Amino acid sequence: MERIYYRATAGESVPAGPLKADIHAEIAIIGAGFAGLATALGLVERGRHDIAILEAQQVGHGASGRNGGFVFGGYSLGETQLVRQQGPARAREMYRLTLDAVQLIKHRCRHYRINCDLNSAGIVLADWFGDRRRMRQKQDFMNRVLGCRWEWLNQPELRGRIRSARYHGGLLEPDAAHFHPLKYARGIASRLASSGVRLFQDSPALNITGRQGAFRITTPNGSVSAEQVVIAGGGYLHGLEARTSRAILPIATYVMVTEPLGSRLTEFLNCEHAVYDTRFAFDYYRPLPDTRVLWGGRISVRDPGPAVIEKWLRRDLARVFPELAGVAVDHVWSGLMGYPLHKMPIVHPLQPGLWTCIGFGGHGVAPTTAIGELTAAAIADGDQRYRWFDDYRLPPAWSGLGRAGAQISYWGLQTLDWFRDRRRFQ
Ligand SMILES: Cc1cc2nc3c(=O)[nH]c(=O)nc-3n(C[C@H](O)[C@H](O)[C@H](O)COP(=O)(O)OP(=O)(O)OC[C@H]3O[C@@H](n4cnc5c(N)ncnc54)[C@H](O)[C@@H]3O)c2cc1C
Repeated sequence: MERIYYRATAGESVPAGPLKADIHAEIAIIGAGFAGLATALGLVERGRHDIAILEAQQVGHGASGRNGGFVFGGYSLGETQLVRQQGPARAREMYRLTLDAVQLIKHRCRHYRINCDLNSAGIVLADWFGDRRRMRQKQDFMNRVLGCRWEWLNQPELRGRIRSARYHGGLLEPDAAHFHPLKYARGIASRLASSGVRLFQDSPALNITGRQGAFRITTPNGSVSAEQVVIAGGGYLHGLEARTSRAILPIATYVMVTEPLGSRLTEFLNCEHAVYDTRFAFDYYRPLPDTRVLWGGRISVRDPGPAVIEKWLRRDLARVFPELAGVAVDHVWSGLMGYPLHKMPIVHPLQPGLWTCIGFGGHGVAPTTAIGELTAAAIADGDQRYRWFDDYRLPPAWSGLGRAGAQISYWGLQTLDWFRDRRRFQ
């Protein structure tokens, strides 16, 4: 059985029951993950309140209530590919949306008094391979081309903070943050409820019919008629709107949380940064306020179950911090990331008034806020910036081999990591 740390520590759940009537709303949103919630809040902040949100389970049930909590710029598509595909000027604008989203999330935490353990200590990219030249190139690319301000950490500086012999130097993204994602999701949902937004939990959307101005969404015990609809079901869509569902591949990734380490924590993490590394198949981890370490990594297309996940992640943890090999693990879970083939969010309307806000993959905390803003601005004000994402419309369906392909490509990337790692020791 999954033991999700966030659920055990988020406090009160959101008090919203299922839809049991036929109602009307100007805008209906399907999914109460970060994408749906950010779109709704963007609409409310632009004066639109006649909104109904349908959530199949509970607020934050999906990736948004299970993720690593890293709040940083960028998309699932890597930044060099983004620049190659869009050119430097447009790529910089698109990347800027996510940097602004990081600041907007921080602002919303303050403004709406959302207590979600927000920690603004920044995020470190740790150099696994000892490739100083590549790290310098990366820093230069991020700062000069994309307008970031990543700081150089040499080896002694890094090891003073992250006490592992595994790493060489690192790059610090000081404007980034980490937080308790489920507390954040619930905080936004409460804010929406107090603004008059109607939220229904345990209310899966079963189908969508109609056209702009007259859509109808059916749930098991009621329906919503709406002028506009936003589909924001992440990797949990499971068949709703066939074309969209087929274009999104749900891929699982894993997280565990150790027992509280007390004063021992600083023997390993003498800082409050969240950390990931330069491998394709990287680890990601961060200290929690109660001195536990949250540790994540790996992907898989099958469900191996908590015991196997714990074994995998423990092994990864011990490679970085061998002294923690025997630490007790109190929480283990998995979550689904929704990947389109092009690895970019899909924000283009399927038909007038039927929007998608989907496809964030494994890098979605800030991008969901960025794209939620674009979607809200398009609906409320006719803002056309969503068209920056025109190249990333609904891609072709994943074939039956999609899952296998994703797994094989991950194993391939792991193998490349292994070769680079081996070269380092030769
Ligand atoms: C384990 C893990 C770690 C991650 N770590 C990070 C990280 O540290 N930083 C980062 O930037 N990104 C991270 N990600 C990715 C990030 O969490 C996601 O990209 C993001 O949360 C996606 O948000 P979403 O709203 O699109 O989808 P979700 O959060 O999955 O929400 C979709 C919601 O829609 C609901 N839904 C689906 N179908 C229906 C329907 N028919 N009717 C009604 N409701 C429906 C679901 O129940 C769900 O609640 C991680 C992902 C995972 C799984």
